[in-house]
Amino acid sequence: MEPFRWQQAEGRRHAYNAEKTATPHPGIAFTTLCGAEVTPQERDFVGLSGWWHDPTCWVCDREWRVRSGFPAHDIPPLPENA
Ligand SMILES: [Zn+2]
Repeated sequence: MEPFRWQQAEGRRHAYNAEKTATPHPGIAFTTLCGAEVTPQERDFVGLSGWWHDPTCWVCDREWRVRSGFPAHDIPPLPENA
């Protein structure tokens, strides 16, 4: 299974592939599973203690499930305004 991780950046909690993407750092852009290139800020790293401020990016959530081979019933459709 690919090593996916969550990282908050630019107002959403995105996911990235830790094997293909360098560990995110403040001020350094990285590419997310949803295909966006985002730059996290210092405030985005408080998530490491287990708390994320921002809403989940549902496109990343879905990509995570699809790429991890989740069964179809565990892959919800995207919300209207994801
Ligand atoms: Zn995303």
